[in-house]
Amino acid sequence: MRRRVALVGIGKIAVDQHVPALVASPDFELACTVSRSGRVDGVEGFTDIATMLAARPDVEVVSLCLPPQPRFAYAEAALAAGRHVMLEKPPGQTLAEVHALQAMAARAGVTLYATWHSRQARAVAAAKAWLAGRQVTGAHITWREDVRKWHPGQDWVFAPGGMGVFDPGINALSILTEILPAPVHLTGAVLEFPANRDAPIAAQLAFSGGVTAEFDWRQEGPQTWDIAVMTDAGPMALRFGGNELWIGGTKAGGEADIMGEYPALYARMAQLVHGGESDVDLAPMVLVADAMTIGRRVTVAPFDF
Ligand code: NAP
Repeated sequence: MRRRVALVGIGKIAVDQHVPALVASPDFELACTVSRSGRVDGVEGFTDIATMLAARPDVEVVSLCLPPQPRFAYAEAALAAGRHVMLEKPPGQTLAEVHALQAMAARAGVTLYATWHSRQARAVAAAKAWLAGRQVTGAHITWREDVRKWHPGQDWVFAPGGMGVFDPGINALSILTEILPAPVHLTGAVLEFPANRDAPIAAQLAFSGGVTAEFDWRQEGPQTWDIAVMTDAGPMALRFGGNELWIGGTKAGGEADIMGEYPALYARMAQLVHGGESDVDLAPMVLVADAMTIGRRVTVAPFDF
């Protein structure tokens, strides 16, 4: 029997990815939603989580698609009610919030899954396998996209806790921390804050091991989500957000299509619940927190949607 899921925060990512992934899932059934104004046709809708948790004891899994700022209170309520919880990325506003949720889930004996959808991109596992045992001599991440296209009018991304350009950038870091044979740490950062905003719109990062990154949310025209890795066996690259693998300048696998990522997240959640496990890897968020801690702040032109 498919486990029943409550989807919380019916906005852009819920509609674009979670609903289609759940409709096609062999493991889960979309039982209800919780959203102040969002709805999914044909699905029971609640406007607050406490009412849903009381009314639907049959819902085993709560999948949180809210922005990171309000997410902790919702996760806490769901865990306290003994439900398994899936967190959109980034898993919280702060590392300590997620540590607290981990402890709550362990006490309650339920699954907590801090998802990283980009780790499920089509070529990430193949890139990790190719790099295993090879010497990485350097890497460069180019993550340039248009915030107006991907987050139209979403002011929360520039509010405290919204992470600014690290909202997409953390996807690149989730891939980096998954594929590298040895971990890297942040050594320096420059963060470009619009004069009217509380979060950066661009960032340049340096890591140990010759790894660098450039994130920019002002990119119009072609969008770029590439990770180029230099190794003792020549260059390897992931393109299209980890969905295409290139080795030595030749395409070696994957395809430029993101639609496999969320079905893979729900399949992983099913495995975790079935096995009584949690999966909470905060490595990508540690790199972001460190960039916010040691990054040099530069003020740039104001930004409005
Ligand atoms: P969104 O559309 O702006 O927000 C999702 C929904 O959350 C909203 O429709 C709203 O629903 C609810 N919400 C917003 N602020 C709230 C608040 N303060 N308190 C309670 N509910 C609130 O955001 P999104 O783009 O879907 O992103 C949500 C999460 O998914 C983020 O962590 C983001 O990083 C991640 N994500 C987004 C994308 C993307 O392409 N946008 C891709 C991958 C992952 P109601 O008003 O109906 O309550």
